[in-house]
Amino acid sequence: MSAYTTEQLREWDRRHVWHPFTQMQDWGRNEQIVIEKGEGCWLIDTDGNRYLDGVAAMWTNVHGHCRRELNEALKAQVDLLEHSTLLGLASEQSIVLAARLAQITPPGLDRFFYSDNGSTAMEVAVKMAYQYQTHLGHPERSRFITFKNAYHGDTLGAVSVGGIDIYHATFKPLMFETVQAPAPYCYRCEFGCTDKNSCGLKCLEALELLMQEHAGFIAGLVIEPLIQGAGGMIVQPAGFLSGVRQLCDRYDLLMITDEVATGFGRTGKMFACQHEDVVPDIMAVSKGIAAGYLPIAATITNSKVYRAFLGEYSELKTFFHGHTFTGNPLACAVALKSLELFESDHLLDAMQPRISQLTELLDGFRELPHVGDIRQCGLAAGIELVKDKDSRQAYPWEQKIGVRVCQEARKHGVFSRPLGNTVVIFPPLVISGEELDFLMNGLKQSVLAVTGS
Ligand SMILES: *Cc1c(COP(=O)(O)O)cnc(C)c1O
Repeated sequence: MSAYTTEQLREWDRRHVWHPFTQMQDWGRNEQIVIEKGEGCWLIDTDGNRYLDGVAAMWTNVHGHCRRELNEALKAQVDLLEHSTLLGLASEQSIVLAARLAQITPPGLDRFFYSDNGSTAMEVAVKMAYQYQTHLGHPERSRFITFKNAYHGDTLGAVSVGGIDIYHATFKPLMFETVQAPAPYCYRCEFGCTDKNSCGLKCLEALELLMQEHAGFIAGLVIEPLIQGAGGMIVQPAGFLSGVRQLCDRYDLLMITDEVATGFGRTGKMFACQHEDVVPDIMAVSKGIAAGYLPIAATITNSKVYRAFLGEYSELKTFFHGHTFTGNPLACAVALKSLELFESDHLLDAMQPRISQLTELLDGFRELPHVGDIRQCGLAAGIELVKDKDSRQAYPWEQKIGVRVCQEARKHGVFSRPLGNTVVIFPPLVISGEELDFLMNGLKQSVLAVTGS
């Protein structure tokens, strides 16, 4: 039992905590849920109410909350070593984790640079790619190709390679310039295509034109593989990712894939790029790596990139970058146990019926009058609500339609967090069939209640 009353906690929260991505003036006006415990796919508040965690603790949770085996791995490690450092020292758990991950990452991606979160993993990727180009004698290759609607984190480098105006536009004066390519968003295709199966991927043609135009000044291309998460769960048409890989090869650019959201099973394979047999040059992972327990990330690369950094100390080829908690043993121990659970639970196989079930449940939203587009990639999905279904006219963002649906969902025992007008489904990967029914039913009732039938 908590030592404080819910009222006391809410009061201190209102007075002292600044919540991320939150208009705090609204926050203080509403009665907020205070979470005390987690149990499987459920979050339990200080008053004992249970909520199905529909967004897996901000897209991180894999094996459920407070999973016994993970708790035990963490407790065992804490009695051995809580933290040392990777600056000038090695540590057992970080070594074993890298060796173990190297067995499951796409071929050739076997060198791990640890950091703490998705944003830092992307900062590292961007700096690594640029410094790589300088080592090859190309300091002029300082630009990155990025995509509209992309999200790679909130630190300035990560913001620079992002493309969501509502989050990023304010910081434009602080950002470095990039070459922004149109991203596939088939429901609202910039090229006017209406059928994503026969569109001929005009977005790839546009990308190639940009590569031609800026050839010689580009260090690399940054992409969320298969699905742009924070942009609204926007799923790419088949063949797009592999097409991007071919273009990166043709124009000799490093391909950087951001698997922060997609990595560790979310799409139904361990990594999203494996769906199209794509091997990037640099890959960033974070959210699911330690199953939602602790902040840890890795920027993973191949020996081609890595070797370019080798030389005499005086050559200044060292990668001068590092974070204090890099390779934290507690996080590494949990990440290792999580990989074991993937195997012992046959999680990737066990997920497949859940993925099909989600497809069917999503189908049940199609006839709702304000459901515009439904997008799914594995156990990630988005339901885009529109003001007018025929014209696809969006709800004005000020109406906060997504927020209102999620607020309503709480009455049905579901916690979710929208992306604009898109309702998000992103549960822990171990969600059961009954729990998935419960989640989708709660969301459906909420969509109906808020948008009218
Ligand atoms: C969440 C996310 C990030 C940022 O990760 P943080 O841990 O929040 O810094 C980067 N890229 C993608 C694709 C993400 O979903």
